[in-house]
Amino acid sequence: METMKALVFKDVGKLQFETLPVPQITKPDQVLIKVSHCGICGSDVKILQGKHAYKINTVLGHEFNGVVTEIGSGITTLKVGDRISIDNNPRCGLCAYCRTGMSNQCESIKENTIGIYKNGGYAEYCIAQENICFKLPDEIDDIVGTQVETLGTVLNGMNTIQMQAWDSVLILGCGPIGYLFTALATRIAAQVVVTEIDPFRFKIAESFGIPVFNPEQIDLEQQVIRLTGGKKFDIVIDAVGTQLENALNYVASGGKILAFGMDDSFQARITPYQVTRRAIKILGTYIGQNTCLPAIKVLQAHTLKMDNFFTEVIPLEQGPDAFSKVGLDLSSMKQVPKSAMKLVLKP
Ligand SMILES: [Zn+2]
Ligand SMILES: [Zn+2]
Repeated sequence: METMKALVFKDVGKLQFETLPVPQITKPDQVLIKVSHCGICGSDVKILQGKHAYKINTVLGHEFNGVVTEIGSGITTLKVGDRISIDNNPRCGLCAYCRTGMSNQCESIKENTIGIYKNGGYAEYCIAQENICFKLPDEIDDIVGTQVETLGTVLNGMNTIQMQAWDSVLILGCGPIGYLFTALATRIAAQVVVTEIDPFRFKIAESFGIPVFNPEQIDLEQQVIRLTGGKKFDIVIDAVGTQLENALNYVASGGKILAFGMDDSFQARITPYQVTRRAIKILGTYIGQNTCLPAIKVLQAHTLKMDNFFTEVIPLEQGPDAFSKVGLDLSSMKQVPKSAMKLVLKP
């Protein structure tokens, strides 16, 4: 039996380097992928903290690309040797959501997300069905190619928020998601401001040449009023998942809030009267939706600032230790200062 190295989620706080059998194709629409690189996602950190849905004994990793090494009997659009990236959320195409243009709410996503419920890309090999594979053009290298789905989720958020050229935009949090929103917003909007509390990521946010604030060190509401002449921001994006109350204080009347970041353990207290009286639109967005091809187009064009996005490529077996660089020390389960934006694992 052929074996492979993998990082397996054993329980909250426990990510283990193991040897597993190479997965086998069991359905005609499946391909076997030799994983090239796999990004560490903020949601992987939250899974290990127990703040995100999880399934024990699953290989984590959903931000990956690789090469097709074997194809099922029913495959028509892929061949052995194709470089691909994946959308880790297979949609059924049959439920009421899929059939009404809201496949991000597909009823089968819950059991099928790769890297959460099904074995993912923190491994040498992974199985995926054909309709979640996206061929990578030569202009996208193996590192950037890990971020097709990630950028796809952000592009879905951009579809939801409908950012215009005249908008003033405040992005709360400059982790990888905040970074991608910032990279897009600085190409579109009239005014972009970012917040970040982590010193390493604060420096990276500054590389956009826009105002960056640490809300733990200054009175952000005062800055918001100063920067917008009292109007506050047309768009506020919560890239953290805990910022809804703050976002309501920073958004202009008639403005929009995008609730993007996720934290299952956080509860907010808001005054619905304010939402009504000030006609504020609070918009949720979840994963991508027909946005992988657009993401590939954006990455292929090299029009997004990505120069500070990737911090380091790390060998798979060093994966558990690497989590401390993105803020979680797995040995103590303590949150620690970050020393990375995006880390990429190399199996
Ligand atoms: Zn992710
Ligand atoms: Zn569905």
